[in-house]
Amino acid sequence: VSTGVPFSGVRWPSLQPTASAAFVQVLLHGGLPRAEIARKLGLSRASLTRITKDLVLADLLTEGPTEQRSATGRPSEILFVNKAAHHFLGIKLTGDTLYSVVTDLQANIVGLKNVPLVNHSVADVIGQIADVTREHAARFPRLTSIGVALAGYVEHDGSRSILHDSAYLGWDSVPLGEMVEKATGYACAVENDVQALTAVERWSRIDQGVEPMALITIGVGLGFGFVVNQELVRGAHGRSGKLSHVPVDQSGPLCDRGHHGCASSYLPNGAIANAAGTPGGYQDALLLARSGEPVALAAFMSAGYALGVLIGHVSNMLDPAKIVLTGDGLPLYELAESRVNDGIAATLESDAGPVNLDVQPFDFSEWARAAAALAIFATVS
Ligand SMILES: [Zn+2]
Repeated sequence: VSTGVPFSGVRWPSLQPTASAAFVQVLLHGGLPRAEIARKLGLSRASLTRITKDLVLADLLTEGPTEQRSATGRPSEILFVNKAAHHFLGIKLTGDTLYSVVTDLQANIVGLKNVPLVNHSVADVIGQIADVTREHAARFPRLTSIGVALAGYVEHDGSRSILHDSAYLGWDSVPLGEMVEKATGYACAVENDVQALTAVERWSRIDQGVEPMALITIGVGLGFGFVVNQELVRGAHGRSGKLSHVPVDQSGPLCDRGHHGCASSYLPNGAIANAAGTPGGYQDALLLARSGEPVALAAFMSAGYALGVLIGHVSNMLDPAKIVLTGDGLPLYELAESRVNDGIAATLESDAGPVNLDVQPFDFSEWARAAAALAIFATVS
């Protein structure tokens, strides 16, 4: 990282590729017996001993208790991530707020700060990112790198990350990673927010055999992410996961692209507020619907049905083991679960696999945590 700002954190140690791969395995699974690491990477016991010694010396792994392995009958020591050795800053940008968290090496949140954006100018938002970084770095001297997640698609061109079509900020062709590095002195990874969230949700379920896994986010926008063979599907151009304009009911309201009754004419928070006729926006619509006001409630019911149609299509196309549902629009599910199920039933093919929906409680710091996890994996691998 070339920068005019002095780096004040802790640098990631320089590791051999095999040592990095061994560390990633322990990190992914939260702790692994030595024998298991050797098996996963096809290493001899001798080379594994050398590698783990280096990782312990680099302060990245600690040795835990010994576990009796039934397969070999030989005891195998468990290695754990030394999670406090490094901290990472995750930032999620929406159209009006900078959400930030600091996490340890296992993406546990240890610090948090949210600030309203002063405006949408790239330079001013970068300035706010630099201010927040300085504040966190003063409290967390082991800060190592930064991840930024936001709407839009990110072109990875060598070590550069160029952000395109970021709708809520109105940004296009912005070399965001490089700009954050220059302003803060820390290495910075940038990713589409839904893809970053899908990656962290996959990480937290990696030992559950949930494969393939889909993720749908509802809220200000609609998002879709998909993991197959433990890998996030980014598409050939980083533009996968577009579900916003799937048709639901052709006699429905108009969306901003002129479709009648597509998913985005019912489902995003703004569409719900429009249908509820609440000038104060989504939060007003939610209060009214919860109090049983019929127009607002009907808006949530229609949105619930549209969500069910999307879930049905995702199940038909991909047969996922699990569909994780999350996002700031989650109150919709609580109000209209029966209509979600109606939409699924109307869409699901008779010979499709069962729908296994995992409703994941949400707050905005979860997006920022996903950005921190992005920074962790960009740094370690
Ligand atoms: Zn549409």
